[in-house]
Parts: sequence; structure tokens; C-alpha cells
Amino acid sequence: MMTNQKSTIGSPRRLRVRGSHVNNSEKGDLIRKVVLGDVTLHQIDAMAPDVNEAVEIRRSAIEKLVEARLEHIGSAHMDYGSIKGKNAENIIGMAAIPLGVVGPIKVNGGHFKGAAYVPLATTEGALIASIGRGVKAINLSGGATVRVINDGMTRGPVFTFNSVVDAERFSNEWLPENLERLKAAAGATTKHGVLQSLKPIVRGNNVFVRFSYKTGDAMGMNMVTVATEAACAYIEAHFPTARLVAVSGNFCSDKKQSSVNALEGRGKTVVAEAVINAEVLRDVLKTTAEQVHDVNYKKNWIGSATAGSLTQFNAHFANSIAAIFLATGQDAAQVIESSSGYTITEVRGKDLYISVTLPSLEIGTIGGGTGLPTQREALSIIGVAGAGDPSGDNALKFAEIIAAIVVSGELNLLSALATRELGKAHQELGRNRPGA
Ligand code: NAP
Repeated sequence: MMTNQKSTIGSPRRLRVRGSHVNNSEKGDLIRKVVLGDVTLHQIDAMAPDVNEAVEIRRSAIEKLVEARLEHIGSAHMDYGSIKGKNAENIIGMAAIPLGVVGPIKVNGGHFKGAAYVPLATTEGALIASIGRGVKAINLSGGATVRVINDGMTRGPVFTFNSVVDAERFSNEWLPENLERLKAAAGATTKHGVLQSLKPIVRGNNVFVRFSYKTGDAMGMNMVTVATEAACAYIEAHFPTARLVAVSGNFCSDKKQSSVNALEGRGKTVVAEAVINAEVLRDVLKTTAEQVHDVNYKKNWIGSATAGSLTQFNAHFANSIAAIFLATGQDAAQVIESSSGYTITEVRGKDLYISVTLPSLEIGTIGGGTGLPTQREALSIIGVAGAGDPSGDNALKFAEIIAAIVVSGELNLLSALATRELGKAHQELGRNRPGA
């Protein structure tokens, strides 16, 4: 398909190619045109015979433009046709990240009961080993107990009115009276998305409405955006003085740290806990309950408060979350709110109670990047690839297993800090000394 973009040097023409491959002179001709600026990176898609050839041509052009060899970026054997139009544009290859595994972690969840291996994609040496030691300690103490407290993906459009009079009437009267009609308008766009609730908040003559949906096994951002657009159209048609400013008014709140997500939840709200007995603390983690509790209180609570943290009273949720997100095709930018949360400890005799609360864990096992080949295989290691039975069950199980890994990571790092082993572990496993 030709693009509508205007070129100052003339419109790109489709190369006449027989069979599935461009011959070398045609390919060289197209690469030259990209290098000269006569064809844009995007226009290659319209001129190459298929997506895979387009990827190769674009990569070759970039190699010439930046004078670098990109053999590894181009080394993955992929059918890029399955990605184009869904997961990325202007593709030149794949970025490979080391993938390790921990477990099996024992989980006593409301949805998942059993043990699961968990893949972690990272370039941070010592991270997988660190989480692995936490998993060992949790397993020896009977595993992690986990519950999903709340489940709802949100979109928060902003409407504007001439005056607070209409803004107030819209929020306090019209929205509650029309909830069922808005559910029907949103529900007409999706099979698995179900509008659960609306939460309006007035600021001057503007009203932010936080729509919250069940999204089955999908993380749900595309699904709830389309559904909310349909509901917004209904609102504008039936409350004529309401004007939609934006379907996302940052009250959602997507890919940002926010108090609303921490208080109201976004995606899955999950708690994982464990009681670590004194012998495991001594033999595996080389510490005591008092030491871990003291570090947790002073670092994660006093330290975070002093630093001005709004929602991140934890040691390193982001390490576990980012590594699992990258491995399993989650939206990496949502690591921000997904790694918000609280680590709570108590000394119980000589044992340690430890829990993590993740108010806004935004994950899915279907949709987005979860269907890509390595990401889907990573989900299958955990046992949660694709749609659950019943719908939504795989995402709930996945959320519980992630929380169990997060509590393992917290336990280990707090212990390593208590015994001053953090630097030593990174010296041994995490230093990349070229030439050493
Ligand atoms: P999606 O791939 O857009 O939608 C999921 C699809 O799976 C839907 O078509 C759904 O059909 C279908 N489906 C089949 N079985 C399902 C099941 N058991 N549970 C749930 N859905 C099922 O994925 P998404 O999670 O909505 O969106 C994720 C993507 O959104 C990511 O790529 C992310 O990067 C991106 N994103 C978008 C925005 C935005 O503003 N649009 C913001 C942030 C991120 P039905 O809908 O008919 O049920």
C-alpha cells in the first residue's frame, strides 16, 4: 500500500518484483534511496515485497547511514509479518536481553496454588541470583501466601463545561443515573471488557471521570480506551454541554507515578506475604528478624518518606517487575506504577513476617506484546500463556506469581543490606570489567 506522505523528491514507487525476494540490484537501489533521503524509513514498507525484506532493507540502510554493522540486531529468525501493525513500526530487527529463570516458587494464592518457574530478562548481574536466594528462603518457610484484593483497569477522560453548575449536575446526578447506559455503550465495543464503576472528580469547570473495567486476561489499555471513547460519545450526545477534552486526562493514571493508583488500585491490587522462620533467616539469609525489620523500617519507610516518595515504600520492586515485564511482553512503561507499593515487616518471636502490597500491577497474558514468540514462551514457562479458563484466570494467577517473586526479591535485598553483603554480591556477579 502506498503512503499518503508527500515527498519533495517524488513519490516512492513499488518495486516490480517477481517471487518473494527482491533481487540484489533492486534491494541495493532501495537502500541507496533511503541513504540519500529520497525514501523515508517508513516508506520502505510500501516498496518492499514483504515485511521481512523491508526489515532487512531498513537495517542495511541504517548500517550505511551510521557506519556500523548490525549483525546481532538482525540475527533473530522472526516472521516480522506477525509484528507489523501490532507491536512496532520501522522495525530493523530484535533487541536481545539475557533471560534467566528462578524457582519454582511455592505460591498459596486465591487463584494459583502450586509452584512456578519464573523467567526474568535483565542485564543486571546478581539480580536473578538475588531473587533466587529469596525464593529459596520463602520456599523453605512454606511459600508465599497471596491474594488479589482488587481488579480493574482504568481510563480517566476529562470533560469541560461552561460553569461549575453543569459540572456538579453532571457528576452528582447525571453520571449515577446513566451508569447502566454507559455500561452498555462501553460494552458494545468489547467481549471481555466490562465497565464496573465510574469515579468523577470536579476541578473548576472540568470533570475527570475514572472509568474502571474488568478486562479478562488482557492488561486492557487498548480495550478500555476504545470502550471509554464509546461511552464518551454517548455522554456528549446526551449531556450537550459536556465537551470531551481528552479520553485520557491523566486521572487514569497510565505510565506515571500517582496517588490515585496507590489508593484506588489500577490493574491488579495484590498482597503477598510469608513468615520466615529463624533457622532460614540464619542459615540461608545469614541474618535475624530484628535486623531485617530494622532495615525495612529505616530504609523503606523513614528513608522513602524523607526522599519524598509518594507511593514507593519498598526496596526494589522495580527490579523484579521490570525483569518479568521484559521477559513476558508486558508494556515496559507501566513498570512505573506497577512497581509502586509497600513492604511491611513484623518481628514475631524470632521469626519475620514480611509482606508486599502492589496496588497497581498492570499485567496481561493475552494481547499487546504477550503474543510475541519469546514472550509467549516465557509465559508458558510460568504456565499462564494466553486466555485463562474461566476468562481472566490466567491474568489473576500471573499477578499472584509476580507478587510472590516481588516478596522474594524484597526479603533477599533487605537481608543483604542487613548483613552488608550487597556490594560483595555485585562485585562477584554484577561487574563487567572489560579486559579483566
Ligand atoms: P489488545 O491486544 O489491544 O486487546 C486484547 C484482545 O484480546 C481484545 O481484542 C480481546 O477481545 C481479545 N481477547 C481474547 N480473549 C481474551 C481474554 N480471555 N481476555 C481478554 N481479552 C481477550 O490488548 P490490551 O490489553 O487491550 O492492550 C494492551 C496494549 O495496549 C499494549 O500493547 C500496550 O502497549 C498498549 N497501550 C495502549 C494504550 C492506549 O491508550 N490505547 C495505553 C497504554 C498501552 P475483546 O476486546 O473483544 O474482548
